[in-house]
Amino acid sequence: MKKPKVAFFDFASCEGCQLQLTYLGRDFLTLLEYVELVEFREIMEEKTDQRIDIAFIEGSFTREADRQRLKEIRKRSNIVVAYSTCSATGNVYAIRNNRDKERVKEEVYGSKKDMPHLDTNQKAEPISSVIQVDYTLPQCPVNLAEFKKLLMDLVHQKAPYLPDYPVCVECKYYEYVCRYQKGEWCLGPVTRAGCGAFCIGHNIPCEGCRGYVSNANLKSMEMNLIEAGMAKELAQIKLRMWAGFDYDRLTEKTGRKE
Ligand code: SF4
Ligand code: SF4
Ligand code: SF4
Repeated sequence: MKKPKVAFFDFASCEGCQLQLTYLGRDFLTLLEYVELVEFREIMEEKTDQRIDIAFIEGSFTREADRQRLKEIRKRSNIVVAYSTCSATGNVYAIRNNRDKERVKEEVYGSKKDMPHLDTNQKAEPISSVIQVDYTLPQCPVNLAEFKKLLMDLVHQKAPYLPDYPVCVECKYYEYVCRYQKGEWCLGPVTRAGCGAFCIGHNIPCEGCRGYVSNANLKSMEMNLIEAGMAKELAQIKLRMWAGFDYDRLTEKTGRKE
């Protein structure tokens, strides 16, 4: 069987999801028995302008200059995977969406705020705002077990499955005591499952790093956080942090005004 050609591309991101793959160790070499890696800037110099079977795209769409490159990758790829919460929701880059962008640049870069590559005066958005995405692999950074499963599904021409139920389901499966029962907070009720309730198992709250389930009720979630003792402003910051563009989409849907 001919090996599928696989490439990784990055847009606005910390590149942590690509780096994450280096933690696969020997498993990474095993994966190379099934696929041909044709572009992956983090670990190889070669680039390709040829047709690709599977394109993994890390990072969000934050500047008009990237639109053409995204479309070009889509055009020559049989399958496009939004690889990272950044490409799935816009992630932390979308925090700036509702703030004065010039002020944000000044706060972060000071006198260097006019560097050409910082010309990003538009909303940070998921890549699905620009191109059709076939599958999504969220989490910040991506979950390696989920990545291996998705890649093998694609190699064997099976449609990968992305859960659309909340982290609470996995949390109950592992019989963790709910943090709300202990007077603490957690975003598990609105966050997309698939991590095995990883953080709750390590005694920290779910912060929502996989983005939200499609019918998340953020208004109720905010009220729950406030009832658990969180200040309203902090509750809104927590809810917006990883959800990126999804936060605006879902809050518009529920008619909520800040
Ligand atoms: S999802 Fe998180 S780890 Fe991955 S590229 Fe984005 S910010 Fe980095
Ligand atoms: S600890 Fe979090 S994920 Fe677990 S049941 Fe409670 S709210 Fe849900
Ligand atoms: S528990 Fe929540 S924050 Fe932790 S990995 Fe899972 S989705 Fe991300």
